[in-house]
Amino acid sequence: MPFSSLGLSPALLRAVTAKAWPTPTPIQAEAIPAALQGRDVLGSAQTGSGKTAAFALPLLQAIENTTATRPRRPRALVLVPTRELAAQVAESINSLAEGLTPTPKVTVVFGGVSINPQMMGLRSGTDIVVATPGRLIDLVEHNALNLGAVSTLVLDEADRLLDLGFSEELNRILALLPEQRQNLFFSATFPPAVTALATAMLRDPVRVDVLPETNGEPDIEQRAIAVDVSRRTQLLRHLIQQNKWSRVLVFVATKFAAEIVADKLRKAEINAEPFHGELSQGKRTQVLGDFKASRLSVVVATDVASRGIDIAQLPVVVNFDLPRSAVDYTHRVGRTGRAGERGLAVSFVSASTEAHFRLIEKRHGLALTLEQVPGFEPVETAPPAAEGAVAGPNNGGVKGLRPSKKDKLRAAAAAAARGE
Ligand code: AMP
Repeated sequence: MPFSSLGLSPALLRAVTAKAWPTPTPIQAEAIPAALQGRDVLGSAQTGSGKTAAFALPLLQAIENTTATRPRRPRALVLVPTRELAAQVAESINSLAEGLTPTPKVTVVFGGVSINPQMMGLRSGTDIVVATPGRLIDLVEHNALNLGAVSTLVLDEADRLLDLGFSEELNRILALLPEQRQNLFFSATFPPAVTALATAMLRDPVRVDVLPETNGEPDIEQRAIAVDVSRRTQLLRHLIQQNKWSRVLVFVATKFAAEIVADKLRKAEINAEPFHGELSQGKRTQVLGDFKASRLSVVVATDVASRGIDIAQLPVVVNFDLPRSAVDYTHRVGRTGRAGERGLAVSFVSASTEAHFRLIEKRHGLALTLEQVPGFEPVETAPPAAEGAVAGPNNGGVKGLRPSKKDKLRAAAAAAARGE
């Protein structure tokens, strides 16, 4: 099916042609016509499947067809869970909007940086706001932004925005929007509890599920390696060097672990940097920029990097610490094998995390052989579960680590999503 049969305007068709995208991806082919008809959409598709354009093109067309209110108030709001994703989505929308006359103004706002330039940027009005929830609320409270003219709301990585960690902020934002609006909710994963919540918010939605089989699913090889907790950094180093991995995204459970592992790799002359929520926004942007530009070979990150980030040609993802849930596993693994490339996802499994790994596997219908790497054969046995035990599935048995309030909220949300 060509792009020209989706009902897009000539200007947007030119934008797509300029990108040299040959045909719409499956999620685009299904979601764009529905969204252009003004329908609500609940779209689930794997990461890297072209979701951003699936909502960006219809919302640009909606704006193209209406005249702006004066003073110019945003007519589309795109909410995303992380700052990096906000920047990335705004960039994608901007690149598709370039050829429109007048060119709509896209404003991106997120926390972790000074609010003043963002307030200044909004003074002359804007057409599309891409935001993380907390900063958006701050701007509304500073009277820098009025959401009363929003006619399209997009939730990107909707499951994350609908889970407990964000629910209070999301409810506050929803209360600021007109009731009559179009809702486009997209995510790679929609656990049942989240689907129920989303469906209750949508008006007669078109449900678009692009099944992995028909999705040109990323070609990702998944492997699991048995290793003792204390030898994981050495094994990581060995794998990077032996396999000559040029670019690796390593996921760990805590900011502390991200710092420590990156530091140890650097000492072994591997060009690595940590990436987590406690770094300044400037540093986060720099690390991601260096990684994307191949100036950095390894990024050791917490789950703040697991959602939506599009890094072309990222051949390897390593779960140094296992993710908290099967859903988080999907998002982490989805960072590799983007846009039809091949990818490899390796999970380190220790005696204390094997049971948790088997649960993740089961949810994904996987049955991976636990491999052993010569020289790194594990000798540890699973510790007996102690009361108030600190050795969780995700901390690899880091002593003294207790789950934070946010961790507990996430765990509760994950349990609710699993129907527990
Ligand atoms: P997304 O899932 O939105 O993060 O997109 C993943 C990647 O696919 C991005 O680098 C897009 O530029 C690219 N992409 C989006 N739509 C198409 C298309 N129809 N054909 C080829 N590539 C696309």
